[in-house]
Amino acid sequence: MNEYDSKRIYDFVEAIGYKKTENVEQADCHVLNTCHIREKATDKVYHHVGRIKKKFRNKKKPIVIITGCVAQAEGDLILEKEKYIDAVIGPQSYHKFNETLLKIEKDKIKLNFTDFNTIDKFDKLNQNKNSNSNVSSFLTIQEGCDKFCNFCVVPYTRGAEFSRSFDEIISESNDLANNGVKEITLLGQNVNAYNFEGKKLSNLIREIEKIKKIDRIRYTTSHPVDFSEDLIEAHASSKKLMPLIHLPVQSGSNKILKAMNRKHTVENYLNLIDKILKANPLIKFSSDFIIGYPGETEQDFRDTLNLLRKVKYINSYSFMFSARPGTPAFEMKQTESSVAKERLIIFQEISEKIKLDYRQNIFNNKSTVLFENRIKNGENFFGRDEYFNAVVVESKKDLKGNIKRVKIIDGNQNSFKGKIVSEVDNQTVAA
Ligand code: SF4
Repeated sequence: MNEYDSKRIYDFVEAIGYKKTENVEQADCHVLNTCHIREKATDKVYHHVGRIKKKFRNKKKPIVIITGCVAQAEGDLILEKEKYIDAVIGPQSYHKFNETLLKIEKDKIKLNFTDFNTIDKFDKLNQNKNSNSNVSSFLTIQEGCDKFCNFCVVPYTRGAEFSRSFDEIISESNDLANNGVKEITLLGQNVNAYNFEGKKLSNLIREIEKIKKIDRIRYTTSHPVDFSEDLIEAHASSKKLMPLIHLPVQSGSNKILKAMNRKHTVENYLNLIDKILKANPLIKFSSDFIIGYPGETEQDFRDTLNLLRKVKYINSYSFMFSARPGTPAFEMKQTESSVAKERLIIFQEISEKIKLDYRQNIFNNKSTVLFENRIKNGENFFGRDEYFNAVVVESKKDLKGNIKRVKIIDGNQNSFKGKIVSEVDNQTVAA
C-alpha cells in the first residue's frame, strides 16, 4: 500500500512543479514513506534523516517530510525529537501534501497532519489521475481495519475500515488501462471487507473484468472471516481473476488464534479452503505466520506446522513475534526469544521444502506469463505467471504487456527460466 501511496503522492506534487530525481543529493524535498509493522521502524526514520543531514551538511537544507504509519503513530514526538524534520503527514492526510509543502517553502514552519479524514483524502485523490503506466499497478480500494487483532497496529495507524466509492475505483481502473496497465492488484488492509453501498469486492472484480485492456486482476490482503460466497463464485467463473489467494492464518493453534483475537478457528479456515478448492481446484494459497506469539507452547507450534503441511502454501511469510507498543499483545507475557528463534528456523525449513517441491513440479509444465520489463543490460525479459511466480525468458523482441504461454525449463527459489511456446489469446484460469 505504501508503494501505491508513494506513487499517488508523486501525482500530487508534480502538479506544483516537483519532479522525481534518482540523485538523493539533488532533492529539494525528501519524503520518507514509512511502515510501522516491524520493530525499529521509528529508529530507521531517524537513521535515514541522519544520512540526509550528513549529505546536506554544506548545502541548503532540503525539506524533510515523514509520511506513513510511523508519522501517524508518533506525530509531534518526531518533530520534537528531530528538528531537521519539517512535517509529519499520516496516511489519511495525503491530500494535504501540496498545501504542506507550499507552507513550509513560504513560512518555514513545522506541521503535523495526522487526522483520520479518509473521505477528504480519497475525494482529493480522485481529482488527480493515477499516472502509473507500468504493466502491473496497485489500486487501493479499502483502507483501515475493524478487526483489532491483538498484535496489530493497523487499526490505530490506518483507522477504521473505509471503502472507496465503487464508481471512482472503476474510473481509476479505466485510467490505468488507458495508461497501458494490464494487471490491477486491488489493495486493502482488509480487502475482502470492501463494501460500498452494498457493492462488494466480487462486484468490483466483475466490473473491472469488463475493461478490455485489463488482462489480470489480483487482490490483497484478505481476512478469512470476510471471505464470502460471492467472492468464491468469482474465483470459480472469472477469466481474469488470478488463482493465487493470500489468506493469512497467523497460527495453526485455536488457543493462539483466540489469544490473537483473530475471530476464526483452524477448522473454519480449513473449511473455507476446502470450499474455495471445490469451486476452483486450480487455486493455490500463500499465508502469513507469527511464530512465538505470547503463550505459544510446543504443542501450539506443532499445530502450526501441521497446518502448514496440510495446506501446502506455495509461499509462507513467517515472522518472529515482535510486540508493538500500544497493542494488547505488548502487555502479554512474551515467549522467550531464543525459543521463538529456534521455532522460526524449523518453520522456515519446512515451508521452504514445501515451496521447493511445488516449484520442482512446475518444471516442464506450461505457464501463462504476463511480461513486464526487460532485465537491465540483457536479452532477458521478466514477467509473472498466474501464481505470481517470477519468470524470465530470453527474447530480443519487446514483450512488455504481452501474455505468452511459456514452458518452464529451469529455476531456483526466486525465479523460473522459461521458453515461449505459443501466443495466448485469452487466459483460462477459471475452473
Ligand atoms: S485483520 Fe489484518 S490489518 Fe486488521 S487488525 Fe488483524 S492483522 Fe491487522
